[in-house]
Amino acid sequence: MGEDPRRRIPGTDTLLADERVQRASAPLSRHVLAQVIHQAQERARREEIAPEQVAVEVLSELARFRPCAMRPVINATGVVIHTNLGRAPLSAAARLAVADAAGYVDVEMDLETGRRSRRGASARRALLEACPPAEDALIVNNGAAALALAVAALVGSGTVIISRGELIEIGAGFRLPELIESTGAHIVEVGTTNRTHAQDYAAALERLPDDAAACVLKVHPSNYRIAGFTSAVSVAELATLSREHGLPLVVDAGSGLLAPEPALPEEPDLSSALTDGADLVIASGDKLLGGPQAGLLLGTGETVSRLAKHPLARAMRTDKLTLAAVEATLTGGQTPVEAALKPDADRLHQRTRRLAEALGADVVPHDGRVGGGGGPDVPLPGWAVQLPESAAAPLRTCDPPIVTRTSGSWCLLDLRCVPESDDPAVAEAAGWVLEHLRVCPDPAPPAAQDT
Ligand SMILES: *Cc1c(COP(=O)(O)O)cnc(C)c1O
Repeated sequence: MGEDPRRRIPGTDTLLADERVQRASAPLSRHVLAQVIHQAQERARREEIAPEQVAVEVLSELARFRPCAMRPVINATGVVIHTNLGRAPLSAAARLAVADAAGYVDVEMDLETGRRSRRGASARRALLEACPPAEDALIVNNGAAALALAVAALVGSGTVIISRGELIEIGAGFRLPELIESTGAHIVEVGTTNRTHAQDYAAALERLPDDAAACVLKVHPSNYRIAGFTSAVSVAELATLSREHGLPLVVDAGSGLLAPEPALPEEPDLSSALTDGADLVIASGDKLLGGPQAGLLLGTGETVSRLAKHPLARAMRTDKLTLAAVEATLTGGQTPVEAALKPDADRLHQRTRRLAEALGADVVPHDGRVGGGGGPDVPLPGWAVQLPESAAAPLRTCDPPIVTRTSGSWCLLDLRCVPESDDPAVAEAAGWVLEHLRVCPDPAPPAAQDT
């Protein structure tokens, strides 16, 4: 009987002492290196590799290791604010600002006096300049946090008056009424699912006891639309009613448009809501605003300062990276979201045709979508390159991964949200995938799509 080959598997100390292993693992944490070594030794014990291959295996695993497993992907779905792909991609200016803010920054220091300053003062200033009707602003971690803070600070265990048509569930089981009630407030529903009138709000306001802690809340239904025999009460009318009772009007606009956007006529905007008399408006930073995940609260000085003083404000405080990205999103020109919503149609068509020609595929009309709960029935007319459905799965495993839209038996590649500089990479990857499918046409599982 010969010697057990497993005795030739190099020990951990030997591998750790190897100069090449030391060089390759220098930027990695100790436990990562230990795990890579352990796994290579295990493979040799199971005789999947020879003992002599262990060091090479360790080196190649170290070379492949990524400090963050989340990978940049190419969004070829045509869905602009794609929840599963991280909603809004940041602008070039915002990315640079995040990188700068990653070190020490004067987020809470006045450099002239050397004293402590209001945290994130410059991001707040940028918001106010971008939305002039607001007197003050506060930035928290996301839209849901902003709403919870508003209710907790303005109402406490009191009453939130809201239309039955606005008691929405948004995504992944997130239900606004449950969030509101979780703060200790209770909800008084007014109107019906499809129709709510000013009189309904007025009656609920009349029934409140004197000096009740309460607010009127108007919520943008976001990703669903009631059509047909409907009616809702405008912000201006609600503002008049609320003021008569000395109560604040809060508008949860959802998507974060700063001003009216003609391309999305149904989408509420923050400036109009404030001009129409809302005391506070709420929006997400990473939907139509095109910035980082954040909850934006803008309104009257008195309302915002009540929020800022509430203990929960500290629990929902944003980090410096978010503050940097919000500010640069507002000051750094057109965002990728805006560019994808309003592309140069001729240019987009030309890019699509060029890609289709390179691949020997067809161009088909394809409507992109806003996504992220914005403009649910607004098509964004455009085009896609039509590939066999079996291309979708291999495209997702390319480097960088390319995520497409699956429709019927087709994989549709839409360039609306693809930076033009990525076109050559997309052409090369898709060409490779199609060539591979011709050689080995095994049907891939259908791609899961969730926006
Ligand atoms: C998206 C949305 C929210 C939640 O915002 P997040 O930033 O996702 O937490 C709340 N209200 C409305 C109306 C929304 O559309």
